[in-house]
Amino acid sequence: MSASLQRGPLPGGCVTLRGRLTTAFLVVVLGPVLLGCIFVALTVATVSRDRTAERLDHAATTVRTGIGAICRQLQAAADAVAVVPPGERTAVANQLVARGLASDIHILESVPVGASDSWQDCAAPTGGQADAIAATATIGTVAITAAQSVDDSFLDRLAATSGASISLDGHATPGSRELSAGPGQPLRLTLTVPRTKPTFLYAVLLTVVLAAGAAGIVVSRWLARSTTRPLGDLAWAADQVAGGDLDTRVPIVRPDELGRLAATFNRMTRELQAYVQALTASRDQLRGHLAILGETLSSTHDVDRILQVILRTALAATGARAGLVLLLDPAGGHLVAHSAIGLTGAWDVPEAELGALRLPVGSGVLGTVAAGGEPRRGHGELASAEPPCRTYVAVPIRAPAGVDDPLLPGESAPATLGVLALYDRVGGDDFDDADLGTLRTFAGQAGVAVHNVRVHEEAQRLSLTDPLTGLWNYRYLRESLRREVERASRFGRKLAVLVLDLDHFKEVNDTYGHAAGDAVLGEFARRIRIGLREVDVAFRQGGEEFVVLLPETDAYGGVIVAERLGAAVRARPVSIEARGAVPVTVSIGVAVFPEHGATAQEVLEAADDALYAAKNAGRDTYRLAEDATRRVPEMNFDPAVGPSGGPQPPRQARGR
Ligand code: GH3
Ligand code: MG
Ligand code: MG
Repeated sequence: MSASLQRGPLPGGCVTLRGRLTTAFLVVVLGPVLLGCIFVALTVATVSRDRTAERLDHAATTVRTGIGAICRQLQAAADAVAVVPPGERTAVANQLVARGLASDIHILESVPVGASDSWQDCAAPTGGQADAIAATATIGTVAITAAQSVDDSFLDRLAATSGASISLDGHATPGSRELSAGPGQPLRLTLTVPRTKPTFLYAVLLTVVLAAGAAGIVVSRWLARSTTRPLGDLAWAADQVAGGDLDTRVPIVRPDELGRLAATFNRMTRELQAYVQALTASRDQLRGHLAILGETLSSTHDVDRILQVILRTALAATGARAGLVLLLDPAGGHLVAHSAIGLTGAWDVPEAELGALRLPVGSGVLGTVAAGGEPRRGHGELASAEPPCRTYVAVPIRAPAGVDDPLLPGESAPATLGVLALYDRVGGDDFDDADLGTLRTFAGQAGVAVHNVRVHEEAQRLSLTDPLTGLWNYRYLRESLRREVERASRFGRKLAVLVLDLDHFKEVNDTYGHAAGDAVLGEFARRIRIGLREVDVAFRQGGEEFVVLLPETDAYGGVIVAERLGAAVRARPVSIEARGAVPVTVSIGVAVFPEHGATAQEVLEAADDALYAAKNAGRDTYRLAEDATRRVPEMNFDPAVGPSGGPQPPRQARGR
């Protein structure tokens, strides 16, 4: 098959298998990818939120701890100033401020803590504005307050240690934490940690989804195409095969299931092709046989040759191994083999010896078919005299319906002429009804052919015989004489020719009538036939003149036959009903090939001459022709002086 497979478009509105597969692949591939991405995005968001809360917790703890430490430090500074004598307190306070333990230390007589409202006492904060945090130590009426200003640098330090940005009195927003004021931590603070936004991650996820989608589409299309392409090829190939192109093959791309399907399709197509080729060959062979059959039927009257061709054609049509055609012998008691192909055992004989193979009508399968006129088929149970086989089918050969067998005149039903039998179909199957039908057809052909040949032979015979006497006529005499002279000449044998002429037959006609004359002629012919051997042949040459050919017979033998025939005619007058007995005699001339003539014509003329000699001798006698070497050529014949020296009567003209 060519690589460029052309596949036709699908009907409009029909979703192709490739389209459905592409969609299925996309759903299967992209669905999980999308779900995974959503899951990852949600997880990332949750983790991010949790981490922010953790960091805020941590920052809050750190800030509380830090501010608590500062409060304790301020308390220690205030206590330190309080315990020194009053005169040294200012100096100590200054020292402590200078050492950075407090931003400011106030020593006040009877002044309550929080000289400024914006100072938040570590022990009791008010929750208001906070410029500083302070701790107070009281000794008597003196209150010593150590303060730490809350400015940007203070907040920055806190932010640095806590990791969160810190503002005073801020409002909590998503991602921030409000730290309320209380003992040990007098400030109201808002802690904020920078929120890590996973934008990049989302971008990556989106990219992955898009890439996966694009890759999914490409891969899905490729998968769908690679899956459906072999199917498309198969569909195309099946279409081609359906259209009659059995050379079509499907390429086997991969040894997968579709590859196996393609291999199976190719094998199926190959076998179909072989089957079709075998069928075509068998059809061509059958056509050839039928052509030969037609030609044979129209060109010959050789029954055996026609039957051989019919048998061969029947074998080709049914696939049988062997076959046999038998025809009923004229007596009707036996079937005689006329044509055989492929037979074994006693039936495997040369064609010339087929006539010796005979089966009695009425017994065995073939005999029963011939007697009953019904076809039979089966296996193996043939009579032992019949051809050995595994399976057989036998049908009667009948003359065409509506005509009588020339050999069985008067039969109204189509006469059975013989039997056509086939044996052992190649492949071992039994013969089926189809075979029986086919064989009936061929048997019909054989019946028509045999009937036609017989009709033809009968017509031929009628054209060569004399209807009054039943003897061969003058036409056949010429042919037979030529053939017999030729044969005698070839084998160096002799041939005696007798010419017989009834004496004074005109008077018989005149005296008893023409019909009586005819009866005399018939009886005369019968007596000739009776007096002859089987190989001798009698002819009516014309009128009351007859010829007899005696093969392998010399002059002596010819004379004996002439005497016998003359005596047979003379001995008993022919009795004619209502006319009484008619005495008849015959004159006979005898000549022999080759001594009385070198050709058929010469021998016949010599016998004619001898007949005249017999007539001249007074009739009712025979004469032997003179030796040809001693005969005077007719052109020099002197009617006054005969060749024997005696006077010869003038030759009479005789009708034929
Ligand atoms: P011969 O002894 O010389 O032969 O005398 P013939 O009368 O036999 O010879 P001829 O030739 O004069 O006469 C022959 C007769 O045979 C004449 C004819 O009427 C008769 N004939 C010829 N053919 C037939 C026939 O078919 N039927 C009948 N009934 N007579 C025939
Ligand atoms: Mg005559
Ligand atoms: Mg005569």
